[in-house]
Amino acid sequence: MAGRSVLVLGGGMCGVGVAWHLLQRGFEVTLVDRRGPGEETSYGNACLIQRECVEPHEFPHDIRMLARIGLGRDNSATYHWDAMPGLVRPLARYWLNSRPGRYRSIVRSYEALIRHCLSEHAPMIEAAGAEDLLARVGFKQLIPTEADFDAQTTSARRLQREFGVNSVALDADALAASEPALRVRMAGAIHWTDPWLVRDPGELVKRYAALFEREGGKIVQGDAMTLARKGSSWTVGTDAGSIDASSAVIALGPWSDQLMTKLGYDYPLFIKRGYHLHYKPDVRLNTPVMDPVAGMVVVPAKRGTRVTTGAEFAKLGAAPSPRQLVGAEARARELFDLGRAVEDAPWLGNRPCTPDMLPVVGAAASHPGLWLHFGHAHQGFTLGPATGRLLAEMMNGETPYIDPHPYTPSRF
Ligand SMILES: Cc1cc2nc3c(=O)[nH]c(=O)nc-3n(C[C@H](O)[C@H](O)[C@H](O)COP(=O)(O)OP(=O)(O)OC[C@H]3O[C@@H](n4cnc5c(N)ncnc54)[C@H](O)[C@@H]3O)c2cc1C
Repeated sequence: MAGRSVLVLGGGMCGVGVAWHLLQRGFEVTLVDRRGPGEETSYGNACLIQRECVEPHEFPHDIRMLARIGLGRDNSATYHWDAMPGLVRPLARYWLNSRPGRYRSIVRSYEALIRHCLSEHAPMIEAAGAEDLLARVGFKQLIPTEADFDAQTTSARRLQREFGVNSVALDADALAASEPALRVRMAGAIHWTDPWLVRDPGELVKRYAALFEREGGKIVQGDAMTLARKGSSWTVGTDAGSIDASSAVIALGPWSDQLMTKLGYDYPLFIKRGYHLHYKPDVRLNTPVMDPVAGMVVVPAKRGTRVTTGAEFAKLGAAPSPRQLVGAEARARELFDLGRAVEDAPWLGNRPCTPDMLPVVGAAASHPGLWLHFGHAHQGFTLGPATGRLLAEMMNGETPYIDPHPYTPSRF
């Protein structure tokens, strides 16, 4: 076992992102996943590298919105009753962190990562030969009512001023002209022009993983839950037998918590679930559109028109509930001539969330050689390469390109 050998546990965007960056620094890297790379949360998202999302999803403080969610009248956030007792602690902290003063400081730390998302994906896309999966078209955030138009355009202008996020305000006519498939007249839309559409997000992770293998990395199937200390190194059980390494990175997305608990840590992690389904024939969209009424995104994806949903608070592994996608599909049919579902059942995934909306990136507090890379919530597909580089630099003893302090694991 080499002194600079690493086990990266988890082959989603976050695991593959850090694995590739470690390889660039001369580490001997083995990526371990129980499935193939990019087949879980990083497969099923809304297909966006979200350069515009400098402000993470905060806990709502608007009483009317909370009441609507509580009464089950808001499709963008739904919940299972039986999950609520376990969510009280993390959601209380999430709520506190969403108060204006604290939230502004979180935004600064989030923006410090988001600002690098395109420039960190770009070299990987090029080296992986994945340009064919991309469309640099941004996305449109629909504004259904005139009452909201001024507030939304003012907010978009503020993001441009403060963070250099680019957008174009479209009035009703401009929106209708730019998306002729839209059959409901809206007040307008904000066209965020920076984000990139990835027509098949799971395939992008697979291309990155193939690049990692071509450049000398190893990918094996195995169970991360078997990770154990062995003297001063780490060992994990895989289909190729036990593999030892001097360091290990936990990048198990929504499952990271299970291994952290087994190792004796108590992190207030929680999940926000989300669904998608594809429809054919394709709606002719020039960009993805985000609709606030149903909390959905409608995406011109490779497998068809992908309709994705907002957040469902539930236990990891609980049975799917059709409600949120039913609501999103009904709204999508109002807005577009939506075809027939491609799959028999919706895909279900879990956004891995932390109460302060920031990912966990850095060394584990009580285990030498153990590193953490999870909790990327709504933007892990966007951020995997950027935080992967940050962690690889820390593991290599370099001066990190971003101040790592806000993401330190010991803050919990
Ligand atoms: C509906 C929806 C829409 C979204 N839209 C966007 C978007 O547009 N843009 C964006 O940036 N983000 C989006 N996200 C969030 C994003 O998808 C996630 O933040 C991101 O995919 C998390 O990546 P990850 O690598 O941490 O986790 P994952 O992709 O889930 O990877 C974790 C890996 O760990 C493996 N694993 C788990 N347990 C074990 C074990 N015991 N042994 C071995 N392997 C194991 C899994 O097989 C998996 O491959 C969305 C999420 C949802 C649900």
